[in-house]
Amino acid sequence: MKITCKKSGINSKRTQQLYGVALFAAVLFFCSLWTAGCANNTPVAATTETTVSLPVIKADGTDSVLELAPYFTENQQTLAVDELLPGDGLLALYGADGSIVTADSGDCLLDRQGRVSVKAGEPFLLQGIIVNPPKFITQVAEITKQALGQNQRVMIIYLDGFGFDSYQEAEKLGKIPFMAGLQAEKVATVYPSITPVAFAAMVTGQTPDITGVRARADHQPACSSIFDLALAQGRKTFIVEGDKQIIKLAGEAEFNPDMNGDGSTDDEVFAAALSNMEVDLLLVHFHGIDDACHNSGPHSQEALTVINKTDELVRDLCRMWPGKVIITADHGQHEVDEDGKEGNHGDFRASDLFIPLLTREAG
Ligand SMILES: [Zn+2]
Ligand SMILES: [Zn+2]
Repeated sequence: MKITCKKSGINSKRTQQLYGVALFAAVLFFCSLWTAGCANNTPVAATTETTVSLPVIKADGTDSVLELAPYFTENQQTLAVDELLPGDGLLALYGADGSIVTADSGDCLLDRQGRVSVKAGEPFLLQGIIVNPPKFITQVAEITKQALGQNQRVMIIYLDGFGFDSYQEAEKLGKIPFMAGLQAEKVATVYPSITPVAFAAMVTGQTPDITGVRARADHQPACSSIFDLALAQGRKTFIVEGDKQIIKLAGEAEFNPDMNGDGSTDDEVFAAALSNMEVDLLLVHFHGIDDACHNSGPHSQEALTVINKTDELVRDLCRMWPGKVIITADHGQHEVDEDGKEGNHGDFRASDLFIPLLTREAG
């Protein structure tokens, strides 16, 4: 009790002084840590510590990881990418900022921190590399612009989560008789391979460093889209979404919750698309495949059943549409075993990054 009284007696001034001393000591302590940290990060120390490992999708489409450390000699700061990936011509260099630069491997220099510079340009931090890359998801906007320019009408059927390997598998198993009859191309999506980031790239024709849509929480592209372009040309546009808005785009859009409670919005999206067939630019976003791949795995019977059903919906929409059709996806999926999920996406790997791009000419 006495002690307590004594303590409470010094409570105001003395405690403040003690706190002051303690705070000063803490600041000194952290400063010393900071300085020590800085000392450890001097260039000399860095030359012997290269822990960067880069995901590389090889020319045959398989995933690999490139450990940089063994390639650098003790004081070497940069390395020609040719030495890491000999004989590989064209590379898609995915930047950590969302950019994609395609360059010849002979023009690229890599440093110990995983930054690349092309033809002595500004170095940028790498996220991953695709060797011999195909075209990119931004192609969708290019094809649309071209068709609109020729006064054609365009319908984009956007199959969420329908990766190129799922497309190939379903084709082999005879599950997509309609889509199998169309012109199909393998294209690469943007990184991170998640819905809003890829959606924004698809409709703007720009990479995430330009769209500014680089994460799940981003919904507003910082650049114009094919919908702005069509509207400026006096064309009528319409977007048929599932239950929520993913990317904010110009023009009319409709959201379709699961009204009949069958566990999918695809039937509602299909019906909404059918009643908006008079527009010039129509985007129809089906979510069923992505949901089935998350819940049951990308190569499950359940996913194949939804893919098979989606092929019928795509067929029926195409038969009703009098113009050009583009069928594509935002990303694929890979198998996981986490939090009750069997499939996921978002990584730098072939299964997530490669998607099909199918086109059907009018008539
Ligand atoms: Zn998606
Ligand atoms: Zn998903």
